Amino acid sequence: MEKVKVGIITCDRYRTCAGGKCFRSLENREGAFNIYDGKKVELVGYTTCGGCPGGNIEYAPAEMKKNGVDVIHLATGMIVGYPPCPYVEYFKSFIENQYEIKVVIGTHPIPEKYYTTHVTLKSWETPEWKSRITPNLTDEKVRLNYD
Ligand code: SF4
Repeated sequence: MEKVKVGIITCDRYRTCAGGKCFRSLENREGAFNIYDGKKVELVGYTTCGGCPGGNIEYAPAEMKKNGVDVIHLATGMIVGYPPCPYVEYFKSFIENQYEIKVVIGTHPIPEKYYTTHVTLKSWETPEWKSRITPNLTDEKVRLNYD
C-alpha cells in the first residue's frame, strides 16, 4: 500500500492545541485528509507558523523535508480563526516554490460552530475562499462531530 508522509503547520493562535481534531480526522480520513483514503499515512511533523506574519513558515518545512515529507497541510485552524489567516495562499506558494513540497490547505472538517459564525460574518464569500474551504466543509453531521 502506498505510504504518504505528512506534515501539519497550524495557526500560532492555537499553539496550545493538542492536535486532537487533526489526528482524529487523519485517522478517519475526514476533511482534507480524505485524499488519503486507501493509503497509509505517516505524520512526520507538527508545528505552528510561529505567530503573525508566520516566520516559522520559512524554516519548518526544511525539517519536515529532512524527514521525507511528501505533503504539508496548513491546518484548518488557519482558515477558521477570527479572522482567517490572510497569508494562507502566500504560505502555500512559498513552501511549494522554495521547498518543492506539495501543500494542501486544511486538515480536519470545519467545526459547525465556526462554520455558522463565518457564514454570518461572510468570511468566505469570495470564489477563492469558497474553493479553499471546500475539502473541509464536509456536511453538518460531520461538522457537529468536530465542535
Ligand atoms: S493568522 Fe496566519 S500568520 Fe497569523 S498566527 Fe495565524 S497562521 Fe500565523
